[in-house]
Amino acid sequence: MNAKEKYTGVNSIEFNQCFKSDDDCYHYLASAKWEQGYKCCKCGHIKYGKGKKPYSRRCTKCNYDESPTAGTVFDKIKFSLLIAFHIVFKISTKKKGMSSLELSEEFSLRQKTVWEFKCKIQQTMRSSQQYPLTGTVCVDEFLVGEYEEGKPGRSSESKKKLVVVALEVLGNKGVGRAYAQVIASASADEFRPFFKAYISKEAHIITDEWTGYKPLQKDYPLLEQVPSNKFIIFYRIENRIFIMFFRCIRGAKLNFFGNPFLILI
Ligand SMILES: [Zn+2]
Repeated sequence: MNAKEKYTGVNSIEFNQCFKSDDDCYHYLASAKWEQGYKCCKCGHIKYGKGKKPYSRRCTKCNYDESPTAGTVFDKIKFSLLIAFHIVFKISTKKKGMSSLELSEEFSLRQKTVWEFKCKIQQTMRSSQQYPLTGTVCVDEFLVGEYEEGKPGRSSESKKKLVVVALEVLGNKGVGRAYAQVIASASADEFRPFFKAYISKEAHIITDEWTGYKPLQKDYPLLEQVPSNKFIIFYRIENRIFIMFFRCIRGAKLNFFGNPFLILI
C-alpha cells in the first residue's frame, strides 16, 4: 500500500459505488460475518448449506438458518438493506448527524420507522461504549480525508484529520471492537483522554515507537512499543471495519465506533 492509497479515505462516491444493491450489502455482511469460517451460533457445527434468504447459511446438524443480518442492527428492519446501509452512512458522515425527518424525506420512509432504526444504531453504540477494550489492543494514529495533490501527509493546510484508533486483537480470530477519534496532534495529552475513555488499564497495549505514547506507560503498565506495523493495522481496518473511515472524514466531534460486528460487519 502506498502513501497515496493510505491517505485517500473513503468518500460518498466510493460508498455509493460499493453499495448499489441489496445484494452488495448482503454480500458484504456475509463475508464479514463468516470471514474466519462458519460456525453455527446454536450448536457450534461448522458445516452448512444454503439457507432460505439471500446469503443465509443453514446448519447441516441442527438446521438453524442464520441470516447475515442476525445479531446486527440490520436484523428485522422494515425497509431494504441498501437503504439501511445508506442511512448508517449518512448518520456517520454528517457532522451534525441527520434528523429522522430529513432521512425519512430522503429515503421516502415513515419518520417513525427511521426514528426507530436511528435509536437502534445509537443504542448499539452506547452499549458498546460502556466496556473498555481489554486483552491485546493495538493503537495507532493516521490521517484520513481526501488526498490533496502536492500536500504532504501532515501538512497544516491539509484538510485531512488525524485520527487515533484502538483495536482489540482477538488472536487468530482477527479484530474485535474498535474505537476511533479525531485528535488535534499525536501527543500524549491528546492520547490520554482517548485511552481513558476506551482502553482498560489492564490491557496489553501495542503501539509503534512514537514518543507521544511513552508517557502513557505510567498509567498503562502493559503498554508495549514495537517497531511500526502500520500495514497490518491498516489492512485490517480497511477490510473489517471500514465504516470507521466514513465517520472520520468529516466528523470533527466525537468519532465513536462501537463493536464493528454490531454496527456494520
Ligand atoms: Zn447448528
